[in-house]
Formats: sequence, structure tokens, C-alpha cells
Amino acid sequence: MSKRLFVISNRLPVNITVSNGSADVTESTGGLVTAISSFINNAQVNDGFEETYWAGVPGCNSSTWKKIAQQLVNKEFHYVPVFIKKNIYDKYYNGLSNSTIWPIFHYFPSYAEYNSDHYEKYLLSNEEFFNQLKRQLKADDTVWIHDYHLLPLASMIRKEFPEITIGFFLHIPFPCYEVFRIIPDKWQKDMLEGMLGADLIGFHTMDYASHFLKSVQLVLGYENDMHIVQYKNRLVKVDAFPISIDYTKFSEAYDDEQVVQVRDTLKKQFGTQKVIFSVDRLDYTKGVHNRLRAFEKFIESNPQYREQVIFVMVVVPSRDAISKYAERKKMIDEYIGNLNSRIGTINWQPVIYQYNTLNFQELVAMYTACDLALITPLRDGMNLVAKEFVASRKDERGVLVLSEMAGAAKELSEALAINPNDIEDIAEKIRYGLEMEETEQHQRMTKMRTAIRSYDVVAWASDYFAQLKKIRNRQHAFKIKLLDTVSRNELTGCYQNAASRLILLDYDGTLRPFVAQPSQASPGAELLHVLMELGENPENDVFVISGRDSKTLEKWLGHLPVNLISEHGAGIKYKHGEWYSDAHPSVEWRSLICSIMEHYVLRCSGSFIELKDFSVVWHFRNCEADKGMLRATELYNELLDYTNSIDIQVIKGNKIIEVRTKGINKGIAIKKIIKDNYDFILACGDDTTDEDMFLQLSENPKAYTIKVGMSASYAKYNVYDPGLMLSLLGSLGADVYESR
Ligand code: UDP
Repeated sequence: MSKRLFVISNRLPVNITVSNGSADVTESTGGLVTAISSFINNAQVNDGFEETYWAGVPGCNSSTWKKIAQQLVNKEFHYVPVFIKKNIYDKYYNGLSNSTIWPIFHYFPSYAEYNSDHYEKYLLSNEEFFNQLKRQLKADDTVWIHDYHLLPLASMIRKEFPEITIGFFLHIPFPCYEVFRIIPDKWQKDMLEGMLGADLIGFHTMDYASHFLKSVQLVLGYENDMHIVQYKNRLVKVDAFPISIDYTKFSEAYDDEQVVQVRDTLKKQFGTQKVIFSVDRLDYTKGVHNRLRAFEKFIESNPQYREQVIFVMVVVPSRDAISKYAERKKMIDEYIGNLNSRIGTINWQPVIYQYNTLNFQELVAMYTACDLALITPLRDGMNLVAKEFVASRKDERGVLVLSEMAGAAKELSEALAINPNDIEDIAEKIRYGLEMEETEQHQRMTKMRTAIRSYDVVAWASDYFAQLKKIRNRQHAFKIKLLDTVSRNELTGCYQNAASRLILLDYDGTLRPFVAQPSQASPGAELLHVLMELGENPENDVFVISGRDSKTLEKWLGHLPVNLISEHGAGIKYKHGEWYSDAHPSVEWRSLICSIMEHYVLRCSGSFIELKDFSVVWHFRNCEADKGMLRATELYNELLDYTNSIDIQVIKGNKIIEVRTKGINKGIAIKKIIKDNYDFILACGDDTTDEDMFLQLSENPKAYTIKVGMSASYAKYNVYDPGLMLSLLGSLGADVYESR
């Protein structure tokens, strides 16, 4: 069975024109198509995909599609058309996608509409995609979903195909939480949960990724660890992959015969005048109005440029069925008319405006004929025009003026950066750019070209798939794997055959169930007996490795022949020895952390603070569940802010937030005690803090790691509860295990 990739985007990459009853079809050569075909055709980076399918709306009805389908066979992709009825599509595409998500995600909340019918049709359209796909998908396929039209799709697929590999990529910004939360609550949840159906969620920039993670934390209550969210027992990776362009295609086009011809004609036409160029889709996010104002300001402030400069502005028609777009077109038309009549002369039309598309040759000819590209979006996920301009400038000349609100600004740091709302500054940057020495142009342009060449569109796709594979491997290690009778017998057998054993046991939640007050969790007779038996065996080194402080451990377990580790590794007492520690007690920061936590004790009834030698803990086990979680998240964020500059760490445990000195965790602690001569290691724990220990032992062939509780873990096995854990420990010396 060949390995298959399914790419899913709102539109299929085909353009279909129907005239006089016959249909004509051309395949699109947009950035995503280039990225994916280059990726699958490059054996070095392609991870074995042999067949690629592309699902999307075809832009015609099913009977037209049937007629043209033959023209499309044997091409690079197998197309999977998704047919959505026109009235539903309108509400999904023009409605929810482009009149709600688009304005909100681009920080234009006042332009957003909230229409529940649109939302319903948005979900329905995603279901149409899913229904079409589910007929074809198999569990070992890889699915790559693109963009804001399809936010809920990954989770729909995940429900039906729990093991399938899914990537999701958002091509627009993800807004900060305060803006995202403007969307109705249920929609917010659906969107986030929908995206979390994927294994890897990609954004253009780290900012967008962080905004998404913050919303996941505040809306759904899921934390992340190094951009990995543990969502419903699955690990989901969130990362930045700045999309790029086909660098070679644009760079080589500089010498293309047709491009040269158009460029020569344009240059002749412009004569000695300096040329400013901009091209973008008609969209209120693009900052066209500000750009025109800045151009006018530039002329006002620099009258010597009258009749010496022209501004060629191309606006590509887009989404004209949406009133906000149609209005914008009218505004631009009027503004340019006024501007030209206000500052122009009989001999000079300052703004040459075209409301149309350019073909590839015309576009590159303009990119390479102009002196300055003026790109001023108020907000833009990436802005490919900026990258295309740079890639086209094989002559290493020309100046890029670029809004810092475009994702591309993060990579193009040699551009002249502007704030699109600072009209004076844009005007000044235009002047500076037009007067920039050739050596400076060359310096800046070469650096930007290197940046784009080294992370072009193929590198982007390869990077994405490499990360997707990585997270799938990591998920594989992080799963619920119940300790069944067979594995239990194997473990017992290995224990009995070993001559030197290390046994590492967490306390709360592992050996003893949680109770309302931590002080009430003293060990019962059975537990003391089991520990005594294990500890007395001279072939065993038993460590109770707990988050508890040394006083408590000493009181409860100090009389047993076992080693004790307190506060996740801060203190240690070897069997029959004395307590000692090389960590710094929490002296300097303790009062600051306590004062923050005290505020939360007041705000969240039932919560309390526990003071330990090396840490301070806020417990919320006895609080109302939702309120406790919410306050815990708030406290966690506040502590992170406060502790940035101090040498301490903030940790989320089981219904606790703990602050402790940096460099202490169970993984580090056990590294110090593991010796080569152990031929059996058993490590048991229930909490996130035990994952450090499991991870530390994950490659050790002699180690058995057991997670108590039914959530995914780096441990090799899971057991249901402390009762079963204790029974396992009690029976390690016995012959065979009788099922309980
Ligand atoms: N473009 C086009 N037709 C034109 C002019 C430009 O298709 O007449 C292309 C341009 O080459 C670029 C894309 O449109 O690849 C615009 O992408 P960008 O990220 O700048 O903005 P978006 O339209 O995606 O918001």
C-alpha cells in the first residue's frame, strides 16, 4: 500500500472558466502548489509519499467537473472535489470565514459580523469536506489541512480516525487572547478544539503560535510544555514555520525574455522618474489608504520630487461579494482621483492606479523596474509580495519599505521598517529609500535575499513534515499502555532474576491516594509493610522520591530501611543515614511568592499555601473545580511574570502550583543515584513531576516505568490506582501474579 498525502484547502488549485457551455481548466501555480510538488518530488526530503491527493472546492458544479475531470488525470495530484451548495458556501466563505474570522484574526473586530446561521453553515461546510474525505481516508494516511476556512476539520477527522497523522497550517495571523475572546464562547472552543485535532499546528510566526497557546490555556485550560500541549491524552505540537516562495523561480525570472521586454518598455515609459510600486489584493488589512496619505505627505514635504516620482499602485480584485470590500474599492477610487487632481499637473499623474491582476511576467517586470516597493499592511499573516520583490531583485538593487505588522518583517530585518499608522515616518522612509546609496541598497538586498533563499518554500514544507514526523514519534512514546497480566509477569520475572535492583517510588498519588489535607496522607499498615519488605532485601535499593518535605518523610517513613528524597530532589537521606542537601533554601524569594499566593487564597476559597524548605506550594484540591483551574492558570501566569528574572521555577502538579529553586527535578535527582550495576530498575509515579524521571529512564533497557492513573505518559506502563500499585509492589517476590 503506497504512502498517501492528502492536502486540504478551501479551493482546489485549479481555475475553471465556463463559457458557451464549454469549460476550460488551468492548474494554479500558487505558492502552496509549488511547495507541495517540490516537496513530494524531492526524494531527499519526501518522507516516502507516493501519492498526493488534494481536496477542496473546485469552483464549478459537479456536472461541469465530470466533463473536465479527464483533463486533470495523470497530473501531479489526484483531485478530490468537495461540492457545497451555493447558499451554504456563501455563508461559510463570505460569511463566517471572511466576515468573522478574517477581520477578528487581523485585529479588525469592528468589521466582524456574528451570525449564527453563518456559523452553522461554516460547520456544515467543514462536515461536507469531512464526508467527502472519509470515503477515501485510511488510518495510515497523512492529512495536511490549510487555513481558517477549515478550523474544525482536524477534530472531525480525528474522531473517526484516531491514529491518522494530521497537520494543520494557519496562513493568517492568530490574534492575542483579548481579541480572540471577542468571538462567542462556543465558537472559540470549537475552533481551538478543532485545530487541536491535528498533531502539528503551524503558524507563520512565534507570536501567532504563542497567542494560540495562550487561548488554548485560557479557553480550554490546557497548558503547554515547550509548545507541546497534552490534549486528551495526545501530544500536539505548536510551532512557527514562516511560509516562503519559490526563490529560484522569481530570481531567474529577472532574465526571462518576456520579463526583460516588459521591463524595458516600462523603464522607457518612466524615463528619469523614480518609481514606487505596490501590489496587493483589495483588502482593508493592506493599509492602502495610509500608503496614499504617506505618499502625499512625502510629496508635500519634499516638493523637489514633484514630477520626479510616480507611484504605480496595483490592486487585485478580491471578495467583492462582501460589502466591506466593495466599499473599500469605492474609497480607494475616490481617494486616488482626488489625490491626482490635488497634487498632479498637466504633465504629471503622480499615482498610476490599476484595479486588475498582473500576469507573472508583468509582476516581475514591475518588481524589477521600480526603485522602491512600498508595503504597508495594517496586519498581514506573512505578505508574500515582500518576499517576491526581494527574490526578483537579482540585480541586488531596490529598496523595500515594509510594515512591521507583516509576518515577513520578522525575517526581512534589512527592510526599512515602518509602522503603517505613522504617516510622517512612512513619508520619511520613502525619501530615505529613494535617496539610498547603491552600496547600501546592495548590502540590504543581499542579506534579505540570503534569508529567503535559505528558507524557501521547499525548506518550509520539508521543515513542516520533519516536525510532523518528530511529534508522531514522540506521541508514540507517550501513550496509555495498561500493565496487563503478561507484562506484569514479565516485570516480576525480571525483578526475581536480578541481583541488584533500584526501586524509585513517588509517594502521593502513587503509594497513597490523594486526600483533602496533605497532612492526612500518612502511610497505612499495608504500605509500611510493603516498603519494609522491599527495603530489607539486601539486593534492593529503594528510594521514596517525593515532593514532600524532609520533616514529613522522616516522620512517616524515617524508621524504614529505605532511602528518602524530599522536595523532588532537594534533600536526600540514605538508608540509616542523615538528611543533607546541596540546594539553596527558598529564603530570598519566599516572601514575595507567598504574598502573591496569599492573594489567590483569598480569591479562591478552599485553597491554601504549604511552605516547604525549598519550595512554596499553592494547593487547590479542595476548591470548586472550574474556579480552581481558572485561578491556578492566572496564578501560574502571574508567577511566570514575576519569576522571569529570579533563579526559580514554577511547576504545575496535581492540583497544585509549586515554586521551587531552579535545577531541581526528579530526573536530575535520579541521575545522581543510578549506578551501572543495577540490572533491574523500577520507577513509579503519578504526576507531571514524575515525567522527568520517566523521560530520564526512557532509553534504559533495564528500566520499568509505571504511571499510576489513566493519562498518557512517558512511562512504559499505566496502572489504575495506588491500590493496584501497592499490590504489584507487594507481589514482586511472589511466584506468579493472580489477577485481582
Ligand atoms: N498576485 C497575484 N496576482 C496579481 C498580483 C499578485 O496573484 O495580479 C500574487 C502575488 O504574487 C502574491 C499574492 O498574490 O503571491 C499575494 O500574497 P500576499 O501574501 O502578499 O497577500 P494575500 O493576498 O495572501 O493577503
